[in-house]
Amino acid sequence: MDLNDISPSAGRKLALLFEGIRYSSALGAAAAFAYPNYNPYRFSPGEENPVGAPQTAIPYLFRTNDDTVVRIKGCGDSDWLVSGSEADGFFLCNDAAAVAPEPISFVPRPQWMDDTTADGFPLRQAGVSLIGDLAVINIAPGCEYFVADKHNGEAMRCRFCVYGAPNERMDHLGQEIGEVGLPDQTYSRMKEALAAIVSANTARHIYLVGGSMLERAKEGRRYIDVAQQVQSVVQGRVPVTCGSGALLDEHIDVLHREKLVTSICFNLEVWSERLFEMICPGKNRYVGYAAWIAALEKAVSLWGVGHVYSAMVGGIELEPEYALTAESAVDMAVEGAEDLCRRGIIPIYSLYWPLAGRDHPAHMARLRGYFEQLNVRYRAIRRDYDMHIWDGFMCHRCAYMQLECDIDRIPCNASAPLVAS
Ligand code: SF4
Repeated sequence: MDLNDISPSAGRKLALLFEGIRYSSALGAAAAFAYPNYNPYRFSPGEENPVGAPQTAIPYLFRTNDDTVVRIKGCGDSDWLVSGSEADGFFLCNDAAAVAPEPISFVPRPQWMDDTTADGFPLRQAGVSLIGDLAVINIAPGCEYFVADKHNGEAMRCRFCVYGAPNERMDHLGQEIGEVGLPDQTYSRMKEALAAIVSANTARHIYLVGGSMLERAKEGRRYIDVAQQVQSVVQGRVPVTCGSGALLDEHIDVLHREKLVTSICFNLEVWSERLFEMICPGKNRYVGYAAWIAALEKAVSLWGVGHVYSAMVGGIELEPEYALTAESAVDMAVEGAEDLCRRGIIPIYSLYWPLAGRDHPAHMARLRGYFEQLNVRYRAIRRDYDMHIWDGFMCHRCAYMQLECDIDRIPCNASAPLVAS
């Protein structure tokens, strides 16, 4: 069975995520009003280039006719492209397939991104971003695993991670390595951005993230601070997820008792102690595999099933150094999905995009097959365990690199609604 058999919409999204979208003038024109892509479009050698520069801005996300959100990856070889205009509407086309152009819309750039705070600071640098209808709060982005001492010559950062690297964002936000707190100014600017989003009614969920700290106790205190600041704005009107590292029990208790968050998502990233140790050496050293799962189980005991998640990087284990075939990698991931579901923890698989130089077509084909089979088999597990992704945590309007919410939009028999505890 392939993905198209259970959800043609998810099947097409998978194709778009892997094949990307070729540049067109329509795509370039949409960048003027669409939510900006962090990665510019880079023209391939020999590719038709109406811009005359090696790279150009493109939109970040579009929605298809059935409201499926798709992240845009620029790719000069792709048969997918966008036609149309803002006045006449945009269409998703495919040169090679006999499919009618489909109307799409780009996720727009909100007004607040061009505003400033009361003290004249650009709101777009206040540590708040949007992925569809998900507001992501990240006011301490620098991850201490990047600066931790090496052990046995090995760096502590997660092997797939580039976004946690300490950089100028830390300066904008006043984040100091090893310090729990952030400047008052950082909290107040973040709250101004969040208030603008909440008043525009564009966020259906909020996700708290940030770089890890070497001391779990400090990280717990930081997330409690941030969640309190966030709740002073949203006051329970929008569901909030704590996307920290696996916290200590005492801090999980505070987050629950004070109703600071409605969901937990401690990202295990990969299944199996062996892969965790190899791929997430910092998490393994400073928390540990068993302690990570125990923290997730603790969260299930408080918030209940349907409110505890763990993001997984679907496909990193296909890199050659982990010595797995595609089949054994799928089997292992499925085994992990079932084990976590049995514990009341819902894994969410984000597509792994290899860095440039590691994206050989044969590798990408294996990765695509892996991700498709994992999603097909994981859907059966969710049904077997009656697991439902709560739309206060995530939905098809924000799952830009994940397929579970798209797949689960197909009605199934086991559809008991979840109730927030
Ligand atoms: S914990 Fe891992 S994935 Fe998260 S920011 Fe640090 S290195 Fe990146």
